[in-house]
Amino acid sequence: GKNSTLICVPLMADSVDQMLVDMNKAKCRGADLVEVRLDSLKRFNPSQDVETLVKRCPLPTLFTYRPNWEGGLYDGDENSRLDVLRLAMELGADYIDVELQVIHEFNSFIMQGKKPAKCKLIVSSHNYQNTPSVEDLGNLVARIQAAGANIVKIATTALDIADVARVFQITVHSQVPIIAMVMGERGLMSRILCPKFGGYLTFGSLESGTVSAPGQPTIEDLVNLYNFRQIGPDTKVFGIIGKPVSHSKAPMLYNEAFKKVGFNGVYLHLLVDDVANFLQTYSSTDFAGFSCTIPHKEAALKCCDEVDPIAKSIGAVNCIIRNSSDGKLFACNTDYVGAITAIEDALRGSHHVSGSTVSPLAGKLFVVIGAGGAGKALAYGAKEKGARVVIANRTYDRAKELADTVGGDALSLADLNSFHPENGMILANTTSVGMQPKVDETPVSKEALRSYSLVFDAVYTPKITRLLREAEESGAKIVTGVEMFIEQAYDQFEWFTGLPAPKELFRQTMANY
Ligand code: NAP
Repeated sequence: GKNSTLICVPLMADSVDQMLVDMNKAKCRGADLVEVRLDSLKRFNPSQDVETLVKRCPLPTLFTYRPNWEGGLYDGDENSRLDVLRLAMELGADYIDVELQVIHEFNSFIMQGKKPAKCKLIVSSHNYQNTPSVEDLGNLVARIQAAGANIVKIATTALDIADVARVFQITVHSQVPIIAMVMGERGLMSRILCPKFGGYLTFGSLESGTVSAPGQPTIEDLVNLYNFRQIGPDTKVFGIIGKPVSHSKAPMLYNEAFKKVGFNGVYLHLLVDDVANFLQTYSSTDFAGFSCTIPHKEAALKCCDEVDPIAKSIGAVNCIIRNSSDGKLFACNTDYVGAITAIEDALRGSHHVSGSTVSPLAGKLFVVIGAGGAGKALAYGAKEKGARVVIANRTYDRAKELADTVGGDALSLADLNSFHPENGMILANTTSVGMQPKVDETPVSKEALRSYSLVFDAVYTPKITRLLREAEESGAKIVTGVEMFIEQAYDQFEWFTGLPAPKELFRQTMANY
């Protein structure tokens, strides 16, 4: 690996035997150490069990015995609890975690000089409400350091993704080794980027259901999805800005590709509430580019210094690139190129050929269902390629407005079933109708599909929607949302890295999922 940040797997099993099993699993999955959460044990006989857990662990151990009052499961006597931690220390634990609130009791308890040199003392503080100011966090770290910690641990709660920036600032400037986590889905970035900012360790759960704190990724995702071991101070940060965003496959696609071409970048899920505030907070050139999805495509456009003219007329951007010298933001819309290229390829019958300059869309009647971000992108794209455009939308007024700006006709969605002025038309669904979980829905009747020679669906979960299945049964060519997704991602990859996209890898990655 390129960094010295450790990955620690918390063990939350309720029996010693299961903990022993999980220790070995953690080792197989690439953990550097395990955190034995003694408070999760149902039956616990300290004098035997601590020794068993220390001696039989194939990895270095961190012992934590978290009380209720600090978010843990232990609700017994404090002296017995501290006694167990002292025992773990004496029996050879590599680390023990003691809460800041009781560190003075603990220090007097073990008496000066009795701590084995091998054992490192982590002094921890957890805030389940929020993330304090940089000043308050700095004071907290100083107090923990003054209490004799070998390693400082602070965990706060993210109410907004911008909270993580304060914790990064503390991490970078810490004089002592520090573990600094921001809990919750909005804090995920803190858990993945700690090697970039010099954090001592991060936590990765064994299974997705067994986290010891909210927002913890699995060790599998840390190592394989985010390429954690390759992250260093120079690693450029990218990500998808959305809400919700955890379902996105973009991190999988870009991180695989970064690895393949040897590009020093990491691509994250970024759960963002306020895109303007996000872009202002993470304004260094280290934060080099973002993809943008629902509901931020329109708002993001307004935050950028320069916007591609087509994206400006569409009114939505899905790709933001930061200039590496002056930090300025440029935004564009690769959805539009992506969808149109996928449709053109299908009409030409090939993914690769680009001999003719005349688009196979020229002169075709192109019906777009939907007038949102994707609908505008498709309508502009088709118009630019010389198609005659018709917009059908649930809200007729929005269809009319879009039709007027691109130069086309408008329909209400209800009238689409009886709309067949000619044969061989092209249909593009850009609404979320038919998307998981409502996979039985479709925006237009099967009978109406007979007038179309090609049907495209922007929805990509599932890959084959009811609309596409019925289109295929009616004899039309189909283009899936997955193809649009791949095409728009090629473009973004090239913007982000300045390198040609590994197209074959993109296809394989998407086919595997
Ligand atoms: P958007 O801006 O919110 O637009 C939503 C559109 O869908 C509007 O026209 C809306 O009609 C219509 N709509 C929503 N629910 C409907 C319903 N129940 N019945 C009829 N019409 C309905 O969203 P967007 O950004 O354009 O995205 C739309 C879809 O495209 C999403 O499913 C998204 O996942 C997909 N997409 C895919 C890709 C890809 O790469 N494959 C890229 C971008 C987007 P009203 O105007 O009447 O509200």
